[in-house]
Amino acid sequence: MIGYPRLVRLNPNIPWKTRGNGAISIQVGWLVDQDPLFFGGTSDGSFKALGSLPRPVSKKDMEKLRVIVASGIDRYARFEDDTTNPGAVILSKPPSVEVYYRTVTEVVRLDEIQEVLERLDAVVLAYKNARGLIGATASVAWQPIHDCTYELIAYRYSDRWGSERVIDANSVQRLDAEVSQSFDNYDYINHHNRIAPRSPCPVLYGVRGDTASELVKSLAIVSSEPWESWVIFQTNQATDDHVFKRTTGSVQRYQSAIITGEVAQIPQTLPGGHVIFSLKDEEGSISCAAYEPTKEFRQVIRQLLPGDQVTVYGGVRVSPLTINLEKIYIRSLVSPIVKLENPVCPSCGKHMKSAGHDQGYRCRRCKTMSNEPRRSAVQRDLSVGWYEVPVCARRHLSKPLKRMGVRKK
Ligand SMILES: [Zn+2]
Repeated sequence: MIGYPRLVRLNPNIPWKTRGNGAISIQVGWLVDQDPLFFGGTSDGSFKALGSLPRPVSKKDMEKLRVIVASGIDRYARFEDDTTNPGAVILSKPPSVEVYYRTVTEVVRLDEIQEVLERLDAVVLAYKNARGLIGATASVAWQPIHDCTYELIAYRYSDRWGSERVIDANSVQRLDAEVSQSFDNYDYINHHNRIAPRSPCPVLYGVRGDTASELVKSLAIVSSEPWESWVIFQTNQATDDHVFKRTTGSVQRYQSAIITGEVAQIPQTLPGGHVIFSLKDEEGSISCAAYEPTKEFRQVIRQLLPGDQVTVYGGVRVSPLTINLEKIYIRSLVSPIVKLENPVCPSCGKHMKSAGHDQGYRCRRCKTMSNEPRRSAVQRDLSVGWYEVPVCARRHLSKPLKRMGVRKK
């Protein structure tokens, strides 16, 4: 293997996606005399070293790889699951990175991908509806041009698969404090241990961070049932690769968007606790929603007022067209002037009474008149700046605020 194995997450708004919505790729070649890179290990302590430089791959090599990959899929794939549609591709050179960007931001059809694979003379292993080929191809096409992160995944012994995971939550908080470049480990408000998946998969936990070598410390800090093995993946997680600047007029279903505009109406809380408001820009308006699972983030959204200038980040829900908020930048807040109380009589100091519809105010005793009630600017509890959904509601691709401004060269 050359370099880290790669875990690539795909467009999160695709309704027919798989649960993990990810694809894995590895680069293989011949070991050369270079410092090996340690990307994983097993409980008996044997580590796997990586070479660094590939040599050209022959047709015969591709066939050997096909046999290895096919036997792995036959052994481990859960074909009986309706949503499992495995696909694997073996390529001697990667597709254009555009294939990746389209797969993480749009809807890509299977036949388009099959055309790409044919052009590149790929070895293709397709099962059931063959849609797995789309993710597999995108994973190979990914290049961490702008940004990337790493995830250390520890795996369970197979006799424990499906049983409840044993992980000490306090040790996860310690991990959060001690491995400072890791992120999304623990949700302190909602008491959610984010490193453990909820599915009956072989993963014990996954720790995400900016520096691969630092993540290895997690193995010593997290107190858990014994792990069988661990691997560090290079990933597109937490990079915001899925979101692009769009407008209310140009945004389409299944996309994710960054839209700047003005809050058009007071946010409404719907049954179920979802909070919705309308955002307008020069081209029109679109609904934005903070759904119930985004917990305390909804408190921020509820406090928005018409006229506030914001930039929203989120995936597009189809009907009605709604931005599912992942984070928001509040650019400016209005301070509307509201009536506080009736005017005070300058002679006697008592509050005046209404003199009738549209006729101002009058002091009953002194007969003084006034048209102006006492007004005051609304005090806002919000401040300008960034707000994001809590760790427990974070999507794989969403860049946490902790990482904002971090761009690796
Ligand atoms: Zn008076």
